[in-house]
Amino acid sequence: MAVINVALAGRSYDVTIEAGLLDDLARRAEAFLRSFAGRKVPFVADTNTHRLYKEQVETALSMAGYSADWFVVDPGEAAKSWAVLERLTDWLLAMGVTRSDHVFALGGGVVGDLTGFACAVMKRGCGFVQIPTTLLAQVDSSVGGKTAINTAAGKNLIGAFHQPAAVLIDPLVLNTLPDREMRAGYAEVLKYGLLGDAEFFGWLTQNGKDVLAREPAALSHAIAASIAEKARIVAEDERETTGVRALLNLGHTFGHALEAETGFSDRLLHGEAVALGMVLAARYSARRGEMSAADAARSAAAIADAGLPAEITELGMDCTGARLVDHMRHDKKMETGTLPFLLLRGIGAAYLARDVELADVAAFLDSELGL
Ligand code: ADP
Ligand code: ZN
Repeated sequence: MAVINVALAGRSYDVTIEAGLLDDLARRAEAFLRSFAGRKVPFVADTNTHRLYKEQVETALSMAGYSADWFVVDPGEAAKSWAVLERLTDWLLAMGVTRSDHVFALGGGVVGDLTGFACAVMKRGCGFVQIPTTLLAQVDSSVGGKTAINTAAGKNLIGAFHQPAAVLIDPLVLNTLPDREMRAGYAEVLKYGLLGDAEFFGWLTQNGKDVLAREPAALSHAIAASIAEKARIVAEDERETTGVRALLNLGHTFGHALEAETGFSDRLLHGEAVALGMVLAARYSARRGEMSAADAARSAAAIADAGLPAEITELGMDCTGARLVDHMRHDKKMETGTLPFLLLRGIGAAYLARDVELADVAAFLDSELGL
């Protein structure tokens, strides 16, 4: 078992990683279940995590005399909407949830983001516990307190910082996760190595295959190392005001443009877009002479070896560099000629560049697109 503390003034919390944790849920979550004596415990899930893990959760709870009531959403981003938020908050009110109760989120980033935001506004803020079930949610979205829903204007534009009371991770639930989702989550694991920990990156190049194969020791190590890095960054800059937390966006500016161009669809999952986005950030850094060509090539190789897209031409998009740059500008709501950009000075050395000319990025992307 590994326990990583997220040290935030006044509301620090633990992330617990343990194979088999779900079977032991009543004990691991005891402090957050206590207020439900004689009442049902609210669990939010999607149809997949509900189908796969409802029985295991209920059995674990019943051992301590608790039982669950379930709010189940359809899988996919559409659940992060005002309409579903309204239904969820009405459901929580009907259950009599108080500010000292904790709502449990059992699912991937969609369930975690939706539940976290509902709890941020529930009676001006009730508690919640994250039980992330995708690799992406385990290493990234469940930790750090960003919660949100989507609107017509874009993804995650309506939300709140609301930290969970605990994050409970059972790596065994990843055994049912589709391989493609596993690889997409692994992109964010590689991100932690690339952005700030060359040694971890080196370890991943040796052990990445075992992580993807869910080999227990390798998987637990990768999850714990990723969370430790995220916890460190979030503790330094909880609300993304100093630029430190922005490091977590490595690969995300390019990635977001690729997601926008492919319509935020199954054609390109978020993690896949981030993977290719990190390759582009590395190559662009090399083009600026800030990273060696050899390190840019090592970054791309690590991503390709994991079965993630490392060439923009793989996506079969019919677009130009200028068009992708337009998506970036739109994303940041900026009409200027420059954007702050996460670039690399080497593996494990990301930094925020503030002098990046978008015209130059467009020319670089044209060359990547073979135009
Ligand atoms: P993310 O965590 O990457 O943001 P989602 O919340 O959209 O992703 O989940 C991705 C998909 O994986 C969804 O279809 C979800 O139902 C499914 N899923 C989540 N956890 C598991 C699991 N442990 N086993 C199988 N499928 C899962
Ligand atoms: Zn991401």
